[in-house]
Amino acid sequence: MKRLFYSDTIPATLLRDYIYCPMIPWIKIFYRYEEPATESMLKASRETDANYKEKIAEKYKLPKPWRIEVYLYDKETGLSGVADIIAGEKRAVVAEIKRFKREKYQHQRIQLLIYAYLTNKLIAPVEKAILIHEEKITLEIEITKQHLETIEKTAKKLRETIEKEEPPTTNPDQRRCIACQYRRICPKTEK
Ligand code: SF4
Repeated sequence: MKRLFYSDTIPATLLRDYIYCPMIPWIKIFYRYEEPATESMLKASRETDANYKEKIAEKYKLPKPWRIEVYLYDKETGLSGVADIIAGEKRAVVAEIKRFKREKYQHQRIQLLIYAYLTNKLIAPVEKAILIHEEKITLEIEITKQHLETIEKTAKKLRETIEKEEPPTTNPDQRRCIACQYRRICPKTEK
């Protein structure tokens, strides 16, 4: 079994990448390469600090207590990540806060579901997960057993993929490859 690049943890972002295309985590692990964050991503991250997140919790009157920027790690699946807000005690609401809205945010939805999974397993049953862009709720998901099972099964598949030497077989939509940041070094598309 190969040792993982991420000290045996699987960051939520890696699972999010896997759902986009199974080749991306394989590239990150075996080529030890990650695309650097862009200046606009770094700016958004600086502006979305803990105070900003607390203001959002206040604005939407999320149930207390509020836990802000919580590191979560599940030994069983290896999944880890930092949830922006976990609100409530016996039943939790998980919130992912983004400073700027993007046209497509499917990848952020997946990340939100991963935090819901981790919170459900480690802190309290999750009833709802919300995605907030520019201080407005853009997505609200009632969390079901099926959401949680899907995340768990996909995490297992990801682990199997990155424990193999050979690249995974993938057949993504060509539009994904065209938009993919890893296209230049991907074993599937490199010339
Ligand atoms: S270029 Fe295509 S096959 Fe390669 S990692 Fe990106 S989406 Fe996947």
